Amino acid sequence: MTTRQPGRSTIAIHGLPSRRPDWAPVVEPLIQSSTFTNPVGSDEEVLYSRYGNNPNQVRLAAKYAQLEGAEDAIFVASGMGATALAHLAVLRPGDHLISSEVIYGGTRQLFDTELSRFDISVTYVDPTNPRVWRRAIRDRTRAIFVETPTNPLMRVVSLGPVAQVATEYGLVLLVDGTFASPINFRPLAHGADLAITSATKYLNGHSDVIGGAVAGSLDLVEEVTRLMRLWGQALDPHAAWLIERGMRTLAVRVARHNENAQAVAEWASEHPGFAAVHYPGLPSHRDHAAAQAEMDGFGGMVGLELKDGIHGVGRFLRRLKLIIHAPSLAGVESLISEPRYTSHKHVGPQARERMGIPDGFLRLSCGIEDVEDIIADLEQALEH
Ligand SMILES: *Cc1c(COP(=O)(O)O)cnc(C)c1O
Repeated sequence: MTTRQPGRSTIAIHGLPSRRPDWAPVVEPLIQSSTFTNPVGSDEEVLYSRYGNNPNQVRLAAKYAQLEGAEDAIFVASGMGATALAHLAVLRPGDHLISSEVIYGGTRQLFDTELSRFDISVTYVDPTNPRVWRRAIRDRTRAIFVETPTNPLMRVVSLGPVAQVATEYGLVLLVDGTFASPINFRPLAHGADLAITSATKYLNGHSDVIGGAVAGSLDLVEEVTRLMRLWGQALDPHAAWLIERGMRTLAVRVARHNENAQAVAEWASEHPGFAAVHYPGLPSHRDHAAAQAEMDGFGGMVGLELKDGIHGVGRFLRRLKLIIHAPSLAGVESLISEPRYTSHKHVGPQARERMGIPDGFLRLSCGIEDVEDIIADLEQALEH
């Protein structure tokens, strides 16, 4: 008999199902212990929570690896920690990295200010044009970094052509898929070598924990783990327990995020109060076809531009009652923010305009409330 691979909803709850012993707790206990007893005379690796081998950390990583279709995974203290360690694991002093130019602001600062310490140079390219990836390659190019879908325009990068270039030149492909979550998109299935995620977002989903994860081959994850131990980036066991608790509902939450965002985007695109709506689930979105081809869902994030642009935005935000004005994303509650004050603050107004993010642009993280209530809140804030 062949063993059946369980579906993603099942994995998010159980990991790989196995028969439980009698009288076992249904919920795995939190083991808030930094260290563990050691057999006298044993030369086996010790258990120590900075090593990422506390049972809560191990269970969570195994579950996430299953969801990403990876050989292995490791959780670290934040999404930024995951991005930093993944790159340190792959790059050597003097190396060259090719990165998408549309990436999280923190990642951009990491590349610009920290990688140069190791004499690592970075070239930024338009991620939706496969030809420019090839043209950017140099002798010392070792890796390619892509984020998809992108913030806040929800551009979807077709990973197939990028992976082809990476394979051809023997480059490592690293992909931050935070905005999709492994329910909507699994980078490894499309040629990535390492999947990076901010667990702060959809994996946990309740806006109460900071964490990050990397998934990929045994070799690469082992190197990230080695660096995590030395650079002191382990996830606290309590945070691991909370993220695992959040992950049990990942599949249903993401399905609802997808549905709500689709409904909000369709409603907003018909409403005269909005000048533009950016959502890959809309046929009018530039990357609708790419998203349909590679993703299982279009996600919970919507970019909105008001008809009266920057002039109405303060009044609009102050009138919202249900939707919370706060940065970050992917929690059960709807959040709205202005990239000019948050993720794209350091970019400057001209560069933002060039990127297609005019001042007054709003980024909505659709929560899992009743969608009629989300729409009613937006509607009443538009009146006047
Ligand atoms: C939030 C975010 C990060 C950083 O994650 P933290 O958990 O805040 O460190 C990285 N990439 C993307 C796409 C994000 O949205």
